[in-house]
Order: sequence, then structure tokens, then C-alpha cells
Amino acid sequence: MDCIFCNIVAGELPANKVYEDEHVVAFHDINPIAPVHVLTIPKKHIPSAMAIETEDWELLGHLFHGIQQVAKATGVDQSGFRVITNIGEHGQQTVHHLHYHVIGGRQLEWKA
Ligand code: 5GP
Ligand code: ZN
Repeated sequence: MDCIFCNIVAGELPANKVYEDEHVVAFHDINPIAPVHVLTIPKKHIPSAMAIETEDWELLGHLFHGIQQVAKATGVDQSGFRVITNIGEHGQQTVHHLHYHVIGGRQLEWKA
């Protein structure tokens, strides 16, 4: 499958990893918008949050556990951070493999 993030999961494309377990991998965004900008993804290819199925519900727990580990590893767990998943055209999703942006390390503004 021609998916950048599946290639990262498979180790075929290098990534600066922050966290990894059986279900999840997290790595620094190649084009960060804040001092901390990490992508947390399932190893399973799911095209977006709209494609999550009942059988994936347990996986979502693993993803948010991964996000907590990323926050601790990058030192934003106390200062706070933002978790974003972009969906589709208006959401400006560019990589069609479910991912959660973990963004922090500075004061964020709330703008769409
Ligand atoms: P989206 O716009 O789909 O929500 O976010 C995709 C993110 O993936 C973007 O922030 C982009 O910078 C990041 N990205 C795209 N290609 C790569 C890559 O090859 N490696 C890494 N680490 N990040 C990537
Ligand atoms: Zn994929």
C-alpha cells in the first residue's frame, strides 16, 4: 500500500520516534508548528477518524495511552498541549492514515 505512515510503521521510511508499543507508534512531525509536534498513529491502517469501526474501539484506548506517553516524554504533560485529528478536505487532512497531532511546548491560540 502506498501510505507514508504505513511505510514508517514498517520501518521502510525513517522517523524520529518518541514512543512505540504493539499497537501504536509516535514520531516527530517533519514540519513542526510548535516546539512539540508529534504524530501518534495506530500501526493498523485506518484512513481517518471517520473510518474507525467497532472493532477498533480498543485500539483507540491504546492510542490515547500512547498520547499520554508522548506528553510525558516530551515534557508537556504538566504545561498542557493540544490533540488534533484532521479529517477530509475541509479538515485539511493530507495523510490518509489516522493520526493524532500532539502539539505543545508554547502557549497555543484557539483559531480554526
Ligand atoms: P494532516 O495534514 O494529514 O493532518 O497531517 C499530516 C502531517 O504529517 C503533517 O503535519 C506533515 O508535516 C506530516 N508528515 C508528512 N509526511 C511526513 C513524513 O514523511 N514524516 C513525518 N515525520 N511527518 C510527515
Ligand atoms: Zn497507512
